[in-house]
Amino acid sequence: GRVLDIDRIRADFPILAEKINGKPLVYLDNAASAQKPIAVLDAMDHYYRTSHSNVHRGAHTLGDRATTAYEGARETVRAFINAGSTREIVWTRGTTEALNIVASGLAKELKSGDEILVSHMEHHANIVPWQMVCERTGAKLRVIDVNDRGELDQDSFEQQLNDRTRVLSVAHVSNVLGTINPVRDMIAKARAHGAITVLDGAQAVPHMKVDVRELDCDFYAFSSHKLLGPTGIGVLYGREAVLKDLPPYQGGGEMIERVTFEKTTWADLPHKFEAGTPAIAEAVGLKAAIEYMEGLDRELIEAAEKALLERARELVHTVPGMTIMGTAAHKVPVFSFQIAGLHSSDIGTLLDQQGIAIRTGNHCAMPLMARFGESGSARASFAFYNTLDEVDQLFSALAKLQRLFAG
Ligand code: PMP
Repeated sequence: GRVLDIDRIRADFPILAEKINGKPLVYLDNAASAQKPIAVLDAMDHYYRTSHSNVHRGAHTLGDRATTAYEGARETVRAFINAGSTREIVWTRGTTEALNIVASGLAKELKSGDEILVSHMEHHANIVPWQMVCERTGAKLRVIDVNDRGELDQDSFEQQLNDRTRVLSVAHVSNVLGTINPVRDMIAKARAHGAITVLDGAQAVPHMKVDVRELDCDFYAFSSHKLLGPTGIGVLYGREAVLKDLPPYQGGGEMIERVTFEKTTWADLPHKFEAGTPAIAEAVGLKAAIEYMEGLDRELIEAAEKALLERARELVHTVPGMTIMGTAAHKVPVFSFQIAGLHSSDIGTLLDQQGIAIRTGNHCAMPLMARFGESGSARASFAFYNTLDEVDQLFSALAKLQRLFAG
């Protein structure tokens, strides 16, 4: 059958040709941040060379060019996640800021006795903003259990969901376990209780087609930099009927309709949430990243990513004492592990000497680590530009480390 032209794809990512400590780079830290194709670098460069000015200020041609590029990127994002309108697409600094906008905005709706439901596998970005809101309002944070395979325990979810649940906020995909959560079904159940539904999509958008209308969520957050785009920009999708009642997050220029010292009125959606000069070149870069992704064959990408994860699973037995965190059947190619007798941070340092980049530590998910009785893990996270040979290199390096330091 058809396969990805991996050499051609790798040639699109200049950084993959780097040498690290004298060895060819093996970049397996894609869940932390993905690398950028030439298309993204060129789009941002071209924007700065030919079109840069501030946006929405009219008056001159460059202002028009910048505004057209910036608002065009918003339309690209809208289509990418199948939102109904660009009024529902808010630019943010990333997933973290998007979740903070929602959490702090919903504070005015919450009071003592209300409940906010998150899960035990959340990134700190989907825990801490809710804890801060609970502190302000007296609402209570409740937590859906995770089972030993690293899946959300659906009994625990249903037991804790009730008419006091005002918000359900969960990861679409776990950044540690790779688990793809059954969010479509969970959202339907939460909405039946009148809850507002929020998805942390940071780890989902790089790996699967996301359709916010099909998911039927109220909010969906993601970051550009994990999706081949630049850092410094991300997206908050908000269902218009809910977003329009959310108060602004910051005040300043761009987000107002009219300012007097007596009273200020907010700009229309989505600008009400976009105080100050935005990340314009970054929006242009994200648009290029999405267009690059969409130029690839999704089915082939998903098959290639699945093959990388399968290869990793097959090779686990070659490293004595290796255990995997997250054995769900339905997962993206994120591979967290421990090796008996080796500290995860040492694994990271020793692999780096071989040019292999992985992430180690708690992955901003300390409650999840505690759930598994661990203080940290090593995590290899694959992208479609990784090769099976790179997975083999990872495992032969790990087997060697194990022999030398833990054998
Ligand atoms: N949620 C998840 C699941 C993540 O993986 C990350 C990034 N590690 C974030 C939220 C935060 O994203 P950012 O740092 O880009 O705001």
